[in-house]
Amino acid sequence: MKKMADLELCAAISDAFGPSGYEKEAVDVIESSLGGLAAHRDSMQNLYVSLPQNVGGRPLVMLDAHTDEVGFMVQSITATGLLRIVPLGGWVEHNIPAHTFLLHNRRGETVRAVSTSKPPHFMTAAERSAPLSMESILLDAGVCSRKDATELLGLEPGLVAVPDVQFSYNDATGLMLGKAFDCRLGCAGVVEVLRALKDETLCADVTAAFSTQEEVGLRGAKITAERLRPALAICLEGTPADDNFTAPDEAQGALKKGVQIRFRDGSMVAHPGLVAFARRVAEENNIPHQCAVRTGGGTNGGSIHLAPGGVPTLVLGIPVRYAHTHYGYSAAADVDAAIALTCAILRALTPDVLRLLNPMA
Ligand SMILES: [Zn+2]
Repeated sequence: MKKMADLELCAAISDAFGPSGYEKEAVDVIESSLGGLAAHRDSMQNLYVSLPQNVGGRPLVMLDAHTDEVGFMVQSITATGLLRIVPLGGWVEHNIPAHTFLLHNRRGETVRAVSTSKPPHFMTAAERSAPLSMESILLDAGVCSRKDATELLGLEPGLVAVPDVQFSYNDATGLMLGKAFDCRLGCAGVVEVLRALKDETLCADVTAAFSTQEEVGLRGAKITAERLRPALAICLEGTPADDNFTAPDEAQGALKKGVQIRFRDGSMVAHPGLVAFARRVAEENNIPHQCAVRTGGGTNGGSIHLAPGGVPTLVLGIPVRYAHTHYGYSAAADVDAAIALTCAILRALTPDVLRLLNPMA
């Protein structure tokens, strides 16, 4: 299979600052990578990009990926200058302490902070085995008073923080290491699909919507789907990998095993005809893929498939180890497979197939 992932693009999008509601930097990086394709934004910073050869008043296929990442918002500052935080997106408490985070202060400068942890020297036996509470974890920007936090560092309630991680790629293993692969790798994939198809004429109109605020309840995609009224949607996602804790022959989100086709999760039962179509296209084009039946979790598909009129929606996953923590590993080959399958589906979609999948479109 052709190498399609642009690693510099993956790096730039992954490194971009952008917790839910504060995605502007990530959206700017995406917009600047579109090779001149026209883009416009709505009030939520959702970014819309159409394929210029395919804006002909035909049924619309919407491509989706979300631009936000999990992070925190500062709620208040203690007398000793520590930042009380509330999560933006789903965090597990024991993954948070003893890491570095980046904030943008009120002057727009970057400030580094450490998530607090109690040294072993001071922990009682009961504390060592007790679960952590979110309220007990604060950010320490390295000051000793509220006055220093606000006056020296420009910190205040309402600022947001994200993991302090820089992208890297190991050529020997083919794995990327970085933050926010859920869903910045999906964003990179959608950009590559647009680049690959920008001069082709397809059987349907195509608009990509890079949506915001997925991690706080699939919010941006509610607006994008309502605005676009698509006949069909394809979501690219960074989905949690299970290969480190599942028997190898039972893993459904394994690195280097190809793009994941999701049958169900907590937010959507995928359209059976669309799933079958995607699998057939993958097989015909020799694109590595794996099928997943998830018990929980949710994606923008959960919002999009319920948009007015109903939208057959396909979720294609790029497996990410350690999703919703500081660090993720993903395979460049799985990004390649997600791009290849999305392009192949768009090329294979005929008016007849679209009518079968969505008779009311
Ligand atoms: Zn996601």
